[in-house]
Amino acid sequence: MLPVSRPSIGSEELEEVKKVFDTGWLGLGSTVFEFENAVKEYLGAKNVIAVNTGTTALHIALDAFGITEGDEVIVPSLTFCASIQVITALRAIPVFCEVDPDTLNIDINDLRKRITPKIKAIMPIHYCGNACDMDALMEIGKNHNIVIIEDAAHAFGSSYKGKKIGSFGDVTCFSFDPIKNITCGEGGAVALSDDDVAEEIRRKRILGIDKDTWHRYKNKRSWFYEVTTQGYRYHMSNINAAIGLAQLKKISVFIEKKRKIVATYNEGFRNLKGIKILNWNHDETVPFTYMIRVLDGRRGEMMDFLNEKGVGTGVHYIPNHLQPFFKPFSTPLPITEQVGEEILTLPLYYDMTENDIEFVIQSVRAFF
Ligand SMILES: *Cc1c(COP(=O)(O)O)cnc(C)c1O
Repeated sequence: MLPVSRPSIGSEELEEVKKVFDTGWLGLGSTVFEFENAVKEYLGAKNVIAVNTGTTALHIALDAFGITEGDEVIVPSLTFCASIQVITALRAIPVFCEVDPDTLNIDINDLRKRITPKIKAIMPIHYCGNACDMDALMEIGKNHNIVIIEDAAHAFGSSYKGKKIGSFGDVTCFSFDPIKNITCGEGGAVALSDDDVAEEIRRKRILGIDKDTWHRYKNKRSWFYEVTTQGYRYHMSNINAAIGLAQLKKISVFIEKKRKIVATYNEGFRNLKGIKILNWNHDETVPFTYMIRVLDGRRGEMMDFLNEKGVGTGVHYIPNHLQPFFKPFSTPLPITEQVGEEILTLPLYYDMTENDIEFVIQSVRAFF
């Protein structure tokens, strides 16, 4: 069975991890700082703070930008439930909005209709790695004094109009979980330009402990530290950072291969009437995942057919406004509900062979 996704890891990652073992310092330390610097340089970002998951990156970013009880956050319903859980964790209110069915990115016109004085943040998701309309989002943010917190879990390495995602917005959150564009095993990062908020995030990731007071008193009183803000235990470990360092070195070959697979799929599916392929920004996107929309209510049927043949499939994602826990925030979203019944994720990962790719295409074609 071809899986939908799989990390590409090997001896390079093990070697970096071994270096950490040799130092005996497994937690937050110099390997994490090295990884942060490497990511910062790769993205061209001003500040990068590494954390232990993409979910905690989003949570800590919302918290550091002051999102709190009763604040409202506009977010597409079509996303991983992590995007919503971090909002409700702060007792803030998710205001669900529609997506554009051709890209699955946030629908800017629908978003505009949902703006009120209670909206404190907007969380766009760069779906499958394709960037959202950042010009429009940043303009809306500026005009209404709303922070744009990008969920870029799918989009590490992608660009928008020649600029890397994470190098220019208010704040951008990445995930390095096992199946993301690069992995740390588990991991995440926050990228932003505001130095003060970046410092706040650095304190928050390690229980609100102020490193500056720690350093100031270190010589005289080595045991002294101050807790200055609400914090969490969200820091990345040296072990995870080591995996990330090895992965980052391979990213350009990952990108080239995954772009080629997407182009081959798009070509292979082009004239099939029963499905819709997404609009891809080929030159600027690092494809995270590949999904089609199966029309005429035939997704379940196609899923069974492909699984029977040995092609793994998935649904990314079930709309969140339909989830039991998010019912209190539910609102009718006809486009999202329609698309949510059509999307079907097909295998896409670096180690796929030419035969694997051809097999997926032929299997989908065979269904029709
Ligand atoms: C993966 C993902 C997350 C969460 O990242 P983790 O590292 O798994 O916690 C958040 N949002 C989206 C859209 C994701 O795909």
